[in-house]
Amino acid sequence: MKLLEGKIALITGASRGIGRAMAQRFAEEGAHVAFTYLSSEEKAKQLEEELKAMGSCAKAYRSDAGSFEEAAALAEAVLKDYKQIDVLVNNAGITRDNLLLRMSEEQWDQVIGTNLKSVFNLTKSVMRAMLKKRQGSIINITSIVGMTGNAGQANYAASKAGVIGFTKSVAQEIGSRSIRCNAIAPGFIETEMTGELNEDIKKAFLQSIPLKRMGQAKEVADAAVFLASDMSTYISGQTLSVCGAMNR
Ligand code: NAP
Repeated sequence: MKLLEGKIALITGASRGIGRAMAQRFAEEGAHVAFTYLSSEEKAKQLEEELKAMGSCAKAYRSDAGSFEEAAALAEAVLKDYKQIDVLVNNAGITRDNLLLRMSEEQWDQVIGTNLKSVFNLTKSVMRAMLKKRQGSIINITSIVGMTGNAGQANYAASKAGVIGFTKSVAQEIGSRSIRCNAIAPGFIETEMTGELNEDIKKAFLQSIPLKRMGQAKEVADAAVFLASDMSTYISGQTLSVCGAMNR
């Protein structure tokens, strides 16, 4: 028996990176995967085909996670197509790095909107269906930086710290209905997001990682499979770090 056999999962921002690896691992474990993208339409369509070939009823939806209206419409569409949502993964995220002195209001608003408000948008939109079924697992992708802070990332760190507080609060609100809410805090993972960093910053990060390498998206996806599955039925309100013991 596969770990997610027959479960319906909705993953935001799965056209690339960690979200894509989660969609692939979830499908490998027998889940039907609805997922979103914003601009990478071709990659999303290609992933949809790949997941279908694995036996998953997969569908890509274009939806801006930062928009409350689009999130509500997305939840409605997914519920119409799949009848239920067992697992929600709030993964969509961006960086707009700058020292605070130079950070624009737009850079602040974009990051808070996509990384934090999106988690509110989607969780609120999906919650009612989970409450009705008295089951569900919500997984929010935060970051080690949400716990440690990082110079040049005040907007990003604030959004990710917010996700941790949100996760703990929601776990307390809906635990009595058997819905779990956890966060995953990746460290330094090889994706397009970290590909943008210059070599000096990468070297500095690597020095602070006892496992002495960057993590792979699949390694974050494995943690998500665990939190989505019935292997973690008594785990809620927690933040699971996937960071190679990174200590900054
Ligand atoms: P990535 O490679 O840049 O991929 C980001 C994904 O999010 C893409 O699929 C993108 O879709 C989607 N996205 C962006 N804005 C969106 C929006 N408004 N609505 C819907 N989808 C949107 O990033 P990643 O490294 O995989 O990061 C995934 C998550 O992990 C993020 O929350 C990030 O903060 C977190 N994280 C990453 C690392 C790391 O080292 N990589 C570390 C800690 C935490 P389109 O391409 O279609 O626009």
